Amino acid sequence: MSTVTLSGKPLAAVIRQRVQDEVRNLEQDGVRPALAVVIATDDESTHWYVRSIERAAESAGVGCRIVDLGHDATEQVLASVLRDLSAEPSVSGIILQTPLPAGVRADALVGLIAPEKDIDGANPLSLGRLAVGQPAFAPATARSVVEILDHYSVPVAGRDVVVVGRSAVVGKPLSLLLLERDAAVTVCHSRSGPLERHTKDADVVVVAAGRTGLLGGSHVSAKATVVDVGTNVLPDGSLVGDVDAASVDGVAAALTPVPGGVGSVTTALLLLHTVEAARKQSPALLLENA
Ligand code: NAP
Repeated sequence: MSTVTLSGKPLAAVIRQRVQDEVRNLEQDGVRPALAVVIATDDESTHWYVRSIERAAESAGVGCRIVDLGHDATEQVLASVLRDLSAEPSVSGIILQTPLPAGVRADALVGLIAPEKDIDGANPLSLGRLAVGQPAFAPATARSVVEILDHYSVPVAGRDVVVVGRSAVVGKPLSLLLLERDAAVTVCHSRSGPLERHTKDADVVVVAAGRTGLLGGSHVSAKATVVDVGTNVLPDGSLVGDVDAASVDGVAAALTPVPGGVGSVTTALLLLHTVEAARKQSPALLLENA
């Protein structure tokens, strides 16, 4: 049996087209969506990632403001910048990029991002709203997984879906999005026991642990669709996921690649969330709802 590769690239192209269309619609209403990315690190890979968001935004017609506060920015400075951006009408969406300087409490800062501009679902209010089924932006990575499953018509309603990882940025919001779609969700973590006990009979397995080779062919069955969220940089600089792709190949029904899977959809979704945020904040819509 051959395992089908579920590339994220065609879906990313569809989402980018939707973003461009929506940018044109917003332009007619006099609205220019704009994203602000706050960064406070010297980490080169983080700067590379932020530049890739900036390039994607520019080519889609979304404004992008990089607010680089330097690696020694204090929590007070970061808090003040986030408050200002939250109140700034020309900014539609805000991302607080990690890592942050040592001693800075990310938990305290993300709560300062206005929920209507929290396009990467970082504010605990966004997670709380997702939990009770209220409108909120999910973290783009979590939504990417659901969008990839939808794009390839992989059903989740009534199916056994296992999520490996319970972080507030991926595992937890993803499990909420899947519950909303009537999946029977199991969430695994470092204390949930042998993985295969949970994954062996699952219809869909999503791995988001940050552990190279965590899931192999012996963990899944022939019916499984495997989504690899992990991004791990090997000593030679190459990027791999959490799934041992070679061992899953020929065993599972389908697998998303790394790179070229979930990650390629995430940036496009950040832009889609930014235009959705701009639409919701646009004066025309605010007047309509007044
Ligand atoms: P995280 O905060 O470190 O969380 C990792 C989760 O995996 C934790 O819940 C942990 O369990 C669980 N875990 C660790 N080892 C495990 C094991 N042996 N068995 C079962 N569960 C295990 O990481 P994250 O921020 O969620 O990110 C997860 C991965 O996704 C990373 O590789 C990250 O780089 C990647 N990521 C990719 C994108 C993208 O766009 N492609 C975006 C964000 C993140 P405990 O809770 O018990 O510690």
